[in-house]
Amino acid sequence: MINLEYTLEILQKLCTTPSPSGMTSEVMKIIESEFNKLGMVVSYNNKGGLLTYYKGKNQSAAKAIIAHADTLGAMVKEIKGSGRLSITMVGGYMPQSIECENCVIHTGGGKSYTGTFYTTKPSVHVHQDARTQERTIEGLEIAIDEKVFTKKDVEELGIDVGDFISFDSRFRVTESGFVKTRHLDDKASVAIILGACKYMKENNIIPEKDIQLFITNHEEVGHGASHGIDDSVAELLCVDMGALGVGQNSDEYTVSICAKDGGGPYDLELRNRLVKLAKEIGAEYKVDIYPFYGSDGGAALRAGRNLKVGLIGPGVYASHAYERTHVDSITNTAKLLLAYMQQ
Ligand SMILES: [Zn+2]
Repeated sequence: MINLEYTLEILQKLCTTPSPSGMTSEVMKIIESEFNKLGMVVSYNNKGGLLTYYKGKNQSAAKAIIAHADTLGAMVKEIKGSGRLSITMVGGYMPQSIECENCVIHTGGGKSYTGTFYTTKPSVHVHQDARTQERTIEGLEIAIDEKVFTKKDVEELGIDVGDFISFDSRFRVTESGFVKTRHLDDKASVAIILGACKYMKENNIIPEKDIQLFITNHEEVGHGASHGIDDSVAELLCVDMGALGVGQNSDEYTVSICAKDGGGPYDLELRNRLVKLAKEIGAEYKVDIYPFYGSDGGAALRAGRNLKVGLIGPGVYASHAYERTHVDSITNTAKLLLAYMQQ
């Protein structure tokens, strides 16, 4: 089985490295260096997506495995006269999920400043309607951790409209095995892929054919895998989170196998094969449907690719907020991924 300690260590490194869609070069360097340690050479497409191969007995990859390293984030929309920043979202999430959250503003000049997202009425002692204020992105602002009182003060720091903002991930693993952090979507899957490659290399496992591995960096904005998959690839497995909640079948302990998402059904033959494989190797799994969810598989298909697409991943509670999964879910996902890679 994969080295869980290594996988969690990488996961922490990835989750604590800012990478909102559009600002991913730093996190990609970390991933590149991990692949390099395994003797795998990487390249990038023009959009900054990372491509590599797990070499098989025959060159020319028939299948590809994808996960995304970009995350949700924000951007400075306006510098207010008060010295606060209004924001625009990068990716889709509930404004209340970042309320009172710490963040970093990354300036164009390469500086960074910390701050906190507050509503415009953040204190119950001051605002009678603090509790009932409608939660919108317009109702949130950043208080920068600097003594700034005017727009000019903020501009003098080098902060400008268009600067990226990343969220404090608050990564932690409990003794009971829960992993709580922002950005489990989809950094948990990237860490699992690295863990799986490390296991296969260390055990000299060589698949029949090359496997193309693609770490995309624009999934949260919808076009991550619209370019980059080799022409020879006929089958694509996305490793991305299972979304949990009332009415959902998947959970924080198993590997989720997606039957259908907001874009329609995943390939039935591939799904059935993944279920069969999970049963054979004893990976605990749940088949589920995510009605308000899309993946890089959809991006590839909409870009005109002729592919069978499947999706597996760890079950993530409170997705696109402060997320939680369990090491059991990571382990079961890794088991199924490893079996699939060796097929
Ligand atoms: Zn995702």
